[in-house]
Amino acid sequence: MSCAIRNRLYLCLVLAFTLLCMACTPQDEPVYHDQFFAFGTLIDLTLYDAEPDTATQASSELEQLFTRMHSDWHAWHPGLLQQTNRQLATLESFTADPEILPLIREANRLSGLSGGLFNPAIGKLIALWGFHNDELPQGPIPPKNAIMALVEQAPSSTDVSVDGGRLNNHNPAVQYDLGAFAKGYAIDRGIELLQKLGIRNAILNAGGDLRVIGQHGARPWRIGIRHPRQPGVLAAIELSGDESVFTSGDYERYFEIDGNRYHHIIDPRSGYPANATTSVTVIHSDAATADAAATALFVAGPELWADVSRQMGIHYVMLIDRQGVVHMNPAMQSRVVFETQPRNIKLSAPLS
Ligand code: AMP
Ligand code: MG
Repeated sequence: MSCAIRNRLYLCLVLAFTLLCMACTPQDEPVYHDQFFAFGTLIDLTLYDAEPDTATQASSELEQLFTRMHSDWHAWHPGLLQQTNRQLATLESFTADPEILPLIREANRLSGLSGGLFNPAIGKLIALWGFHNDELPQGPIPPKNAIMALVEQAPSSTDVSVDGGRLNNHNPAVQYDLGAFAKGYAIDRGIELLQKLGIRNAILNAGGDLRVIGQHGARPWRIGIRHPRQPGVLAAIELSGDESVFTSGDYERYFEIDGNRYHHIIDPRSGYPANATTSVTVIHSDAATADAAATALFVAGPELWADVSRQMGIHYVMLIDRQGVVHMNPAMQSRVVFETQPRNIKLSAPLS
């Protein structure tokens, strides 16, 4: 079976797990459901109590929007981001395309709040590890001196000044990769589209990362968090109003050599995959912040996650470390319902 087919089957499984905790919908409930493929994953739209015509219109506009955003912001296919990276490489000031400028501005802001642990400027490192590829890399591990050369050049969003509509990069090692944040940003734009069409109750789910608005009728939406090391669901969370849930995991894209896993979330400080965490789940109002924060907290690991959460204004976090210990803040603990009670839970002090 080709890697691409395996990936798709795998994504379908992820989605099935994610939806497992949603209560069954009786036939007569006004639920609309549609799916399409974008951002390398299944995008799953669920609406409650929407007019049928509005629902079909929403779905088709959403698919067009997601297809465009996916190609504009792609890290290794030709498109706006690639063009922007070429312009950044000249180290000369240029007028950025208005479709990409707000993303770069927001990514830079979130990167600053995370103390650079979410670092959208490390595209060269991610490419060096082989993750700028439609197929999963099989290795080899990049040469240590190549990794160190990039780490020493310390590409960072602070190297790129934004002045009105113009960008100016001062570091030749900077190359943007928005993979840790673009899906969240896209989901926020998608929810805006739904709201403009008058839709009040929805889940927009991209392979388990999602934002909800409103409710599922009289009850909250209910979603599942994937277990990082077993097939199936680790825990369920109820959501209502306007909330996003994002998970970063070391199981998404990785290769193994001699029993060691080399995955796609890179610690910008070492240049190697962040190795103390297996997954981090964040709940936050907007999806872009939740997405960037989940990646940053994955890198922060069991020692630093609470400090970085406070810096980023995040109030709900669950982190599973390499030993399987579940780290949470008390507010998150009051919201998660585990499928099987974890053997070891470590509670932090409150985050706010
Ligand atoms: P996510 O699944 O949201 O955690 O995003 C992971 C993706 O973000 C990777 O596939 C890379 O493209 C990119 N990435 C990896 N490490 C970082 C990092 N430390 N900061 C920002 N982006 C990263
Ligand atoms: Mg992320």
